[in-house]
Amino acid sequence: MRCSSDGVFTKGELVPYGPIELNPAAAVLNYGQGLLEGLRAHRKEDGSILLFRPHENALRMRIGADRLCMPAPSVEQFVEAVKLTVLANKRWVPPTGKGSLYIRPQLIGSGAILGVAPAPQYTFIVFVCPVGHYFKDGLSPISLLTEEEYHRAAPGGTGDIKTIGNYASVVSAQRRAKEKGHSDVLYLDSVHNKFVEEVSSCNIFMVKDNVISTPLLTGTILPGITRKSVIGIAQSLGFQVEECNITIDELLGADEVFCTGTAVVLSPVGSITYRERKVEYGKSQEAGVVSQQLYAAFTAIQKGLVEDSIGWTLQLN
Ligand code: PMP
Repeated sequence: MRCSSDGVFTKGELVPYGPIELNPAAAVLNYGQGLLEGLRAHRKEDGSILLFRPHENALRMRIGADRLCMPAPSVEQFVEAVKLTVLANKRWVPPTGKGSLYIRPQLIGSGAILGVAPAPQYTFIVFVCPVGHYFKDGLSPISLLTEEEYHRAAPGGTGDIKTIGNYASVVSAQRRAKEKGHSDVLYLDSVHNKFVEEVSSCNIFMVKDNVISTPLLTGTILPGITRKSVIGIAQSLGFQVEECNITIDELLGADEVFCTGTAVVLSPVGSITYRERKVEYGKSQEAGVVSQQLYAAFTAIQKGLVEDSIGWTLQLN
């Protein structure tokens, strides 16, 4: 789907997966005018396919587009493009329990421009790929390395939108953490190097004395759709949930820690390393009780195993 500076996206077309042509002066290649989204399609036991809250992804892309001075497809256009792409590739949606189809919408400044300014043309793309677990061991606990030298985002920056540049800034810290045997990086705030923000591609939660807390969205953290959904589920299960500033010391003192995101779903954290200290949570190879309870409740809705009384899922056929 394409649009010029009038901001109106024309009807898109389905084309076989493959390289796209881009002008070397395209704004996305030079000035990072690019946004991405991530969703999953699951197959229910009756063979039908479910999307999870696609309207939320469409809205988040529109907020990001506004920040980057880009026109964006309407919510209806976004959801329709996702639906058509998934239906055209439905043979790739794995059977129930065997994974899901990952959906990657992208909005890029594809028009050529020299000098920092919004692109004259934009392209909206959706591609899909079947996937299993993000971390190699699935629901078994992951280990995080706390990063103090590099930050994911700074106040006034673009940390709260899903723009491509945010991921460029995490690659080296993530590689370093993986080389040291950790699953991912835990980022702290860039002002005090003390408040917990998030992980490279997921939000973080802690449980202490049965109260669930997650960092407050202050402009440097991506407002995760899984985060928002897990907060709602936890509240409906009777948990007290607080969105507040969390220091690294408070996180290290938690009873349980877990991460949420479309790719990671809900991954328990088994250990966090901070400076010379490694803190382990619960029994080393098992998810905590609250993490297990929330994982079960969340995935049951996402995979259509229980009735979706809130209307979060969109059935495609
Ligand atoms: N934080 C970052 C930096 C991410 O890339 C993601 C993945 N989109 C998340 C959090 C989780 O967001 P969501 O639950 O919408 O996938």
